[in-house]
Amino acid sequence: MASIAGTSIQYLKGVGPARAKLFASLGVQTIEDLLYLFPRRYEDRSKLTPLSGLKPGEWHTASGEILSKGGRRVFFNKKHVFEVEIGDGDARVQCVWFNQPYLDNYFHVGEKVVVHGRVDVFKNRIQIIAPEYEIISKEDEHLSMGRIVPLYPLTKGMGQRYLRKLVASALEHYGQALVDVIPPKVLERQKLKPISQSIAQLHFPDSEAAQEEANKRISFEEFFFFQVCVILRRMTLGFQKGVSHKIFPDMEKRFSKIFPFVLTRSQVKVIAEIKADMMNKRPMLRLLQGDVGCGKTVVAFFGCLVAITNGKQSAVMAPTEILAEQHFQTFLKYFAKSPFGNVRVALLNSTLKKKDRDALYEAIKNGEVDIVFGTHALIQEGVTFKALSYVVIDEQHKFGVKQRALLSSKGKNPDVLVMTATPIPRSLCLTLYGDLDVSIIEDKPKGRGEIKTYHFVGEQADGVYKRVAEWVVEKKTQAYIVYPIIEESEKLDLKAATDMYAHFQKSEFKKLRVGLVHGRLPREEARQVMEKFQNHEFDILVTTTVLEVGIDVPNANVMVIEHAERFGLSQLHQLRGRIGRSEKNAICILLGDPQTEEGKKRIEAVVKTGNGFKISEEDLKIRGPGQYFGRHQHGLNELKVVNPLTQMDVLEAARKEAVALVNADPQLTTHHLIRTTIHKRYPEYLERVLAG
Ligand code: ADP
Ligand code: MG
Repeated sequence: MASIAGTSIQYLKGVGPARAKLFASLGVQTIEDLLYLFPRRYEDRSKLTPLSGLKPGEWHTASGEILSKGGRRVFFNKKHVFEVEIGDGDARVQCVWFNQPYLDNYFHVGEKVVVHGRVDVFKNRIQIIAPEYEIISKEDEHLSMGRIVPLYPLTKGMGQRYLRKLVASALEHYGQALVDVIPPKVLERQKLKPISQSIAQLHFPDSEAAQEEANKRISFEEFFFFQVCVILRRMTLGFQKGVSHKIFPDMEKRFSKIFPFVLTRSQVKVIAEIKADMMNKRPMLRLLQGDVGCGKTVVAFFGCLVAITNGKQSAVMAPTEILAEQHFQTFLKYFAKSPFGNVRVALLNSTLKKKDRDALYEAIKNGEVDIVFGTHALIQEGVTFKALSYVVIDEQHKFGVKQRALLSSKGKNPDVLVMTATPIPRSLCLTLYGDLDVSIIEDKPKGRGEIKTYHFVGEQADGVYKRVAEWVVEKKTQAYIVYPIIEESEKLDLKAATDMYAHFQKSEFKKLRVGLVHGRLPREEARQVMEKFQNHEFDILVTTTVLEVGIDVPNANVMVIEHAERFGLSQLHQLRGRIGRSEKNAICILLGDPQTEEGKKRIEAVVKTGNGFKISEEDLKIRGPGQYFGRHQHGLNELKVVNPLTQMDVLEAARKEAVALVNADPQLTTHHLIRTTIHKRYPEYLERVLAG
């Protein structure tokens, strides 16, 4: 039999060229792809709720015969309502859809239908509003009723029944041709079932337990390959030649004397780690984790000075221009008169005129600039360095692996330090970032005040702004008022920053100086507002999330976050990190009434803990890994079924096996199948890993 990986799905009965196009949009081209198209959820139709047992407020899957149907327009709001009444002999229930008149063509009296949705009561009658629905026909009832039924991700023009039948037929004819790409010994050691059996159970599980076992098998496989790639990449990095920097005598001592404060123990430790890496010929690839405000940035500058004293250049890349500018200013503040001689620094931002920008490009190219600060503009075509040997990337989450690689390619394997203020939970870091070394700053600078966080709802929130005004005056502090968006949006009904800014000046903050900054403000204006706030020419700063990253105003110790329920958990923590940066105590007030369980949990978590690692772990639990890491995060795009948090044991087992395999056979010479599988599933990894 031909390999199913090379066989187009058009070989399946019921798939012509038109359908094949639809499948392509789902990423399915071959029969193997189809078998690897996993259900997005399941419905246990072996035990459907009888219609008499439907409970308002709950989600149910139920089935019945269509007794009647009909559409009409509601007189007062002109909405179209389509209703289907279904019955199962014992009871009758109304299913209702709005503004979908075409449904009339789909439902026919006398047919059997399965519906899934939230049960409601309307005028004392049980209803299901806009349920998912599926007509059951005799011929495929064995696939769609009386069992755990798969529900697939669909695309327009393709229905569940069709896809389910097609997968069943593909399994029947080609299921046995699935190849186990995991070595038999590994399968045995890990007590994993053969792939053909696992894939079959993943589509049509005999029981919940069987589905879980199959899922574990597939997760193991995905993660095993991911790990093999990560480990291989790590190894090849070790073979590459970078710059081995010389460290001048007493460099650390002289560095630490620059600051008006004492470096924390963690900071000293991390500086030693960076130093060792930079002396090594092997390129550094290090992730620097630490809670907001713990002092990562100043530590990162150590590497810049190492580079400069070696006659090389550095680049410091930030996610926003405001932040790039701030790093630039911080650097100037401490190093303008450094004991390391005259340092030539430049800020590359979009406000530069073309003439000036070209001149800057030229200077960077000729080695007349030692450190360049900027955003991703730094990795644009026009920028070439004479001798780039050290790169700092702030806020890992905003940059993808590709961008990271692009920047690295601007020098001869420069040392790279990636900083992140959204710590990755310890338990996950090694498994997901096996290709990075990790440094952690655990302690906060001494003598910082405490941050107290409160959540107020409804009446509790009355008078908050009056109190804020009092604090600001009494404690001579400054305050941030943070909003989720910048313009009034009818839909979300949010008080917009701009409106409130105007309102505040006439009311609560009449006697104070109020500034406004948001994402739509011209850059220069935003910069000026920030500068004024920094210099305490404003007492209050009304702002949107542009504030999130980096802003460093130690005298600001009060923050009110409006509509806190609209922010993500890590985002709230990041925002809060803008206060509590001096010896004074700080206060953070969250306003807003979360309507969802998730929203409640998020706010509870922020009120309860100020520890970034705990927050990240919570966040991961609440949101799941996909959203947590963002779409650009490497690896996780490709992971289809793995949930790193709930499947930690699987991940660790897979990592162990991957390490053993690669150590024994780094070129994969005796593991041809693994090599070809990587080729197929992770082509972009392979380019860099197994080149040649
Ligand atoms: P991060 O990058 O981790 O958010 P920064 O490096 O921006 O933190 O430091 C936050 C603030 O703390 C800055 O004002 C910085 O000058 C100050 N700072 C850094 N290290 C120390 C320290 N050891 N003691 C006191 N203040 C420090
Ligand atoms: Mg910082």
